[in-house]
Amino acid sequence: MRKVLNFINGEYCEGVKGEWMESINPATEEKLADVVNSTSEDVSKAIEAAKKAYPAWSAQSPERRAKVLRKMADIIKSRLDELATLESLDNGKPLAVAKTVDIPRAAINLQFFADAIGQFSQDAYHMKNAVNYTRRQPLGIVSCISPWNLPLYLFTWKIAPALAAGNCVIGKPSEVTPITASLMGEIAKEAGLPNGVLNILHGQGSRMGEELVQNKLIKAVSFTGSTTTGKVISKLAASEFKKVSLEMGGKNATIVFGDCDYDKALAGVLRAAYSNQGQICLCGSRILIHDSLYERMKGDLIEEIVKLKIGDPMAAGTQQGAVVSKEHFEKIISCIELAKEEGGRILTGGNRHGDTGYFIEPTLIEGLGANCQTNQQEIFGPVATIQSFKTEEEAIELANGTNYGLAFSVWSENSSRTHRIAEKLDAGIIWINTWMLRDLRTPFGGTKDSGVGREGGFDALRFFTEAKNICIQY
Ligand code: NAD
Repeated sequence: MRKVLNFINGEYCEGVKGEWMESINPATEEKLADVVNSTSEDVSKAIEAAKKAYPAWSAQSPERRAKVLRKMADIIKSRLDELATLESLDNGKPLAVAKTVDIPRAAINLQFFADAIGQFSQDAYHMKNAVNYTRRQPLGIVSCISPWNLPLYLFTWKIAPALAAGNCVIGKPSEVTPITASLMGEIAKEAGLPNGVLNILHGQGSRMGEELVQNKLIKAVSFTGSTTTGKVISKLAASEFKKVSLEMGGKNATIVFGDCDYDKALAGVLRAAYSNQGQICLCGSRILIHDSLYERMKGDLIEEIVKLKIGDPMAAGTQQGAVVSKEHFEKIISCIELAKEEGGRILTGGNRHGDTGYFIEPTLIEGLGANCQTNQQEIFGPVATIQSFKTEEEAIELANGTNYGLAFSVWSENSSRTHRIAEKLDAGIIWINTWMLRDLRTPFGGTKDSGVGREGGFDALRFFTEAKNICIQY
């Protein structure tokens, strides 16, 4: 049986208290690994290691740090098959997705920030007889806390800019999918990352959250996960004036106008709703369709959803794998039941698929009002609703009508309309005639309950550095 150990000061180790939890393969319900269930003592131990490593690492040139990150990226690429297999076993996602999306993107994240740190220029402001220059210096030790839906992809998305900027990291991958992130210890070591610069802790976040956020030596917390946890972290951080970046939940709208490119829109709506079993914060789970297209698109969506191949994540051709855990499976099923109680009509799906494993049929629901819980709360599974609208104003009101504001996609060939509507949508990311097209240089994040701050590109490097202005009179 695999053991998922903490990685502290360049060595794998058991937890200080010797406590364990299990990692389960959600497609088979079989145990995959024993995982260290850390406590605040483990966090303190990791912080001590990071403290020792910080002076030397932060003094390294950006080029030297970039070299190590590039090597880490190369090792990930060379271990693609192994990492993709483990990601799929741990998370339930189709192997093909792990192989073409998750793991390649983990390597790209490291490569991207290795390149970005070399381009991270610092400002100068000239006055009469004086000049200011602004140094951006690493913060010190930072916590990087990531979720289970894109395990290695989102873990590396945080640690890469933190390390590139010269910080030491306490990484906390999700306890639900810890395996690939745990391998980053050996990958970092092989790449030449000095001991103590990257420490990886496993276990339930609630057991170590306070120490991860409030320890005096932690200078910033970069968190991706649910809005509920984000609120807890935000409160803990506020009392100690910590810098925080919070990437949280979404209830994103996909808005389809009558003047869209129909086939492109249909494919986009489907992809946005059900990719990764609907477990991407960017998924479009509220599909808003103009009246003129509603019945046609409803029929076509049902036809396409029924064709999605659901089952063994390891099998070639599988498009829908298992959802991540028993707990999450039960939550999604209860959300479907709630949708029925609220008066929703299940157009397709709505049930468990098979007897073993946490598989849920991709589900489409209609007949629900904008303000019911189903259309307000994040489900984070293969469940989407459709609603119709008549005017642009109504579409904007529906789209903006939740507490979330992460990512919307708009489908229309009328470019004046798309610019106009993009101005009025309250979200951090607006896609026009596309979905999840990512340029890593762009600001990534949400408004309202979806987020605080932005990741990506120089925004991430600014987050992981402190500005210091130096003014010289001459
Ligand atoms: P979660 O909030 O349960 O857990 C996320 C991480 O926080 C885990 O590593 C967990 O151990 C840790 N954690 C839990 N309690 C903690 C505490 N008290 N202190 C410190 N850390 C703690 O989220 P999840 O279920 O793993 O992920 C799903 C959620 O993530 C969804 O809401 C989804 O929308 C969101 N998400 C957002 C983005 C984004 O970029 N906005 C991306 C992916 C996922």
